[in-house]
Amino acid sequence: SRGLFWFRRDLRLADNPALERACRSHDALLLVYVDEAADAGFDASRAWLRRSLDALAVDVARIGGRLHVLAGDAEQVIPALAAATGAEAVHVSALHEPDADARDARLARALARGGVVLRRSAGRLMTDPEMVLSKVSTPYRVFTPFLKAARPGWRYRPRAAPRRLACFGLPEGMQRLQATLAAPAPDWDRGFWETWTPGERAAQQRLERFLEHLDDYPGQRDRPAIDATSRLSPHLHFGEISPARALDAALRRGGPGTDKFVAELGWREFGYYVLNHWPHSTTDNFNPRFDGIAWRRDEAALEAWRRGRTGVPLVDAGMRQLWHEGWMHNRVRMVVASYLSKHIGIHWASGAAWFMHTLVDADLANNTLGWQWVAGSGVDAAPYHRVFNPVTQSRRFDPEGVYLRRWLPELRRLDDDRIHAPWEKGGAPRGYPSRPIVDLAEGRAEALQRLARASD
Ligand code: FAD
Repeated sequence: SRGLFWFRRDLRLADNPALERACRSHDALLLVYVDEAADAGFDASRAWLRRSLDALAVDVARIGGRLHVLAGDAEQVIPALAAATGAEAVHVSALHEPDADARDARLARALARGGVVLRRSAGRLMTDPEMVLSKVSTPYRVFTPFLKAARPGWRYRPRAAPRRLACFGLPEGMQRLQATLAAPAPDWDRGFWETWTPGERAAQQRLERFLEHLDDYPGQRDRPAIDATSRLSPHLHFGEISPARALDAALRRGGPGTDKFVAELGWREFGYYVLNHWPHSTTDNFNPRFDGIAWRRDEAALEAWRRGRTGVPLVDAGMRQLWHEGWMHNRVRMVVASYLSKHIGIHWASGAAWFMHTLVDADLANNTLGWQWVAGSGVDAAPYHRVFNPVTQSRRFDPEGVYLRRWLPELRRLDDDRIHAPWEKGGAPRGYPSRPIVDLAEGRAEALQRLARASD
C-alpha cells in the first residue's frame, strides 16, 4: 500500500515514531513538507527551516528516498495529494499546539471523507501535555510537582533511523506545487551560520559535544560568556533531534550535570503542558491580576530595546546577540525581558512578538512560558516585586565583562568595573547611549507602583 508522510516539526530520520510507523505500514511513501508561510515575510526561524530542509533532503536521499517541498495551504494540499496518489494514510507527528491540533482534527475529518486516515504519533515531547497528571484533577501550576509526576513516564528508548526508504514520486498534476524556500535578501542571517548548522547530524554532534562537559553545566550554565549550555533549542524546536534521545544520552553519560539538564528538558515539557491546559496564555495574562496593569506605550523605547540601544550594557549585549546569532543565552533572556516588561513597562507580549520574529528557536509554548514567568504574570512565576537589576546580574554572571565586550564594541575599552554601568563613573564612550533610557531605580519603583495600582 501507499502512504503519505508529512514532515512538520520532526525534521529527522532517527527516533521518529511517526516515520517508523509509516515505514512499517506501507510498501512505499511519498515524503513531503508543506511550506505554508511563503507569503508571510521572514523570521529567523524560517532561515533555519530552509537549511534544515536542505539537510533533511540530503539525509533522505542517502537512504534512497526523496523529499518534496511544496508550497500551499496544507488543508488543501494534503487531501489533494492523498487522493491523487491513492495513499491509504497520512502520517504526522503531533505538534501539541492547540490551534495546530484543532487544524489536524479538521484535516482528519476532510481526509476521512475520502477514505484516508490521518495517523498522528507522539515524538515531540515525552509527556502527553493534555494529561492532567495531578491527583486532584486540576493541572499543575508549579514546575517541581509537575516534573515529579511527569518524569516517571519518560521511559522510551530512542530508536534507530530507517535503513532504507521506499518512495514514490509526486503525481503529474501536483508538480506545480514544488517550491524552494528563498534565502533572505539582504542576507541578514549571515551571522547565524558562524554559530549554527541546522539538521539532524549537526544536532547529534551538538549533543555529543555538550555531553563532554556536562559536569560543568550546573556551575556554568548561567554564565553567558561561556558556551556551557547545550544550544539544542532550535534543533529540538524543529525536531531535528528528539527530546528522548537527549534524555537517554544524558542519563547514560551520568555525572553531576545530569539532573539539571534533565530538569531543563522538563521545563520544555512544562511549557507545552501549560499551553495545552491554558491555550489563551499566549496572549492573555495567566494571572488575571495583571489585566489591570497600565502598560506603557513607547515605540521609541521599544525600538531602542529591539536594537540593543537602551544604554544598559547587559540588555544591549543580549539584544545584539539575538540579532546576530538568532539566539540568546537564557540568563540574558530573563534580564532583557525583565527590563522591557518591568523597568520600561511595556507589555510582555510586545517583547514576546520580537522574540518570535528573531529567535531561531522561537517556540510558542516556551516563549510564552518564559515571558509570562519573567513578567510575573505566568504560572510558577517570579514574584512581581523581584525585579532583576541588570547591573547586578551583569556583575554577577559576566564579572570580567567578556560577554559585554563581545557584543558591544563601543565599550571594549572600559575596565571590568565600569563596563557594567558606564554612566555611573565617567560616562559612556562616544557612540553609546550616555544614560539608560529608563533609570534603574526609577524604573523599578514605577514597576512596583504599576502593579499596586492594578490590584486596587
Ligand atoms: P540548555 O540549558 O542546554 O537546556 C536544554 C534544553 O532544555 C533547551 O534546548 C530547551 O529545549 C529546554 N529548556 C531550557 N531552559 C528552558 C526554559 N527556561 N523553558 C523551556 N525550555 C527550556 N526556549 C525555546 O526553546 N524557545 C523560545 O522561544 C524561548 N523563549 C524564551 C523567552 C524568555 C523570555 C525566556 C526567559 C526563556 C525562553 N526560552 C525559550 C527558554 C530558554 O531560554 C531556552 O530554551 C534556552 O536558552 C536554550 O538554550 P540551550 O538549548 O543551550 O539550553
